[in-house]
Amino acid sequence: MSEMNAETARRQTSSLGDEIVGRIDRLGTISESSNSLTRIFLSPEHRAAADLIMAWMGEAGMHAHLDAIGNVCGRYEGERAGLPCLVLGSHYDTVRDAGKWDGPLGLITAISCVADLHRRGRRMPFAIEVTGFADEEGVRFASTLLGSRAVAGTFSESVLGTRDGAGISMREALIQFGLDPDHVGAAARTRGELLAYIELHIEQGPVLEARNVPVGVVTAISGATRLAARLTGMAGHAGTVPMALRRDALAGAAECIAKIEELCCTDEGGLVGTVGYIHATPGATNVIPGQAHFTIDLRAPTDIHRKRAVADIVRQIEAIARRRKLALQLDVTHENRTVPCAPWLKAQVAEAVAAEGYPVFELPSGAGHDGMAMVDIADIAMIFVRCRGGISHHPDEHVEVADADAGARVLLRLIENFRPREAA
Ligand SMILES: [Zn+2]
Repeated sequence: MSEMNAETARRQTSSLGDEIVGRIDRLGTISESSNSLTRIFLSPEHRAAADLIMAWMGEAGMHAHLDAIGNVCGRYEGERAGLPCLVLGSHYDTVRDAGKWDGPLGLITAISCVADLHRRGRRMPFAIEVTGFADEEGVRFASTLLGSRAVAGTFSESVLGTRDGAGISMREALIQFGLDPDHVGAAARTRGELLAYIELHIEQGPVLEARNVPVGVVTAISGATRLAARLTGMAGHAGTVPMALRRDALAGAAECIAKIEELCCTDEGGLVGTVGYIHATPGATNVIPGQAHFTIDLRAPTDIHRKRAVADIVRQIEAIARRRKLALQLDVTHENRTVPCAPWLKAQVAEAVAAEGYPVFELPSGAGHDGMAMVDIADIAMIFVRCRGGISHHPDEHVEVADADAGARVLLRLIENFRPREAA
C-alpha cells in the first residue's frame, strides 16, 4: 500500500473508537434500573438491547435476526451468498450493577468493523457473522454460557426447568419473551458452516495496563476447579479448654487458606487460587468453632498444571486436618477444562497486532468466555483490550477511546487478512 493509501485507510478507520464508545454508552443505558446497569437474560431490557443491536447490524449491511435462544445474529455475505463464515461475537447480558464494557465491547467492535467493510463496498471470500450472545454471565438462572451453548448445540434441555429468584422457570421466561422452549435446538450451528470464532473482550485484569500495551493476544481460557471443604472439630468454651486440647475448625481452615495462598504465590506456571467464602459455626465470640466450611477456586493456563496443583492442595489440606485431628470433607463442585486458542488463528491475531504497530503480548484469560462453548464447533481466538485498573464486573469498568480504537483496528485487519485454516 502506498503511503497515501495507507493514510486514507487509517483515516477511514480512525473514527471507529468514537463510534464504538458512543454505542457502548447508548447500550449501557438499557438497564432494569436507571442508576445502575443490570441487563439479564429474557428481560424487557434484553429485548430492547437486541432491537438496538439488530438496527446497528442492519446499518452495517448485515441481515439480522434473533435466534431460538435470544442471541442476535447478523450476517454479512461474502463475495457470493452462502459461503462459510468467520464468526465474531461476545455477549450483551450483564452481571448486576455491571460495567458497560464487559461483553458489549466485543460485539459492538465487530459490528463497527463490518460497517467499515460495508462503507468501502468490500466483500471477503467468506461470510462474516456477528453474534451477540444472550446469556453468558448466568445471572438469572445460575447457569452460564446459555447463548453460546445453544449455538454450539450443547445446550442442555434439563436447564429449562431451572427457576429464577421470582420462581419463573426458563421455559416460562422463553415463552414470555416470545421464543419456543421446545425449539432452542434450532439455534445450533454446525462445524462445517464456521471457519473460526474470534472474540474481542476487555481483559478484566490489570496485566495489559501494567505492561503498558493496549491489546493482548490470548493464549487460552484457563480451566478452573472449584472445591468445597468442610472441617469438623469440637466446639467448646473459649475460656476453659486449654489450647493443646482444642480441635478448632476455623484455625484449621485459616492454616489451609494460608497454605493455598503460599502454593499459588510460589508457583511459576500462572496458578491462581482464591478462598472467597468461609463460614464458621456456631459463630460466637466465646465459643471455639466446631465447624468451618470454605470454598477453593483454582485456575491455571494448562489442565495438567491445574490438576497437579489440585492434587497438591488436597494433600496439604488432608495433612493439616490430620495433624489438627479435624474430620475433613472435600468435594469438587465444578470443573472446567482449559480451552486453548488455536495456534493457527492466534498467529493471525499476533500478525494483525504487529501490523498495527503494537507489541505482541500474549496472556491467558483467567475469566471464562463464550469461546469455552464455541470451541465445540470451531477453533477459537481472543483479543484482549486493556481496561483501567483491571476493574470489571463493577460500574467503574472503563476503556479509553484510543484503546477501543486499537482493538477495532486489530480486529479489522485480522478480518481483512483472514485465511481459513486450510489456506493458512
Ligand atoms: Zn464477558
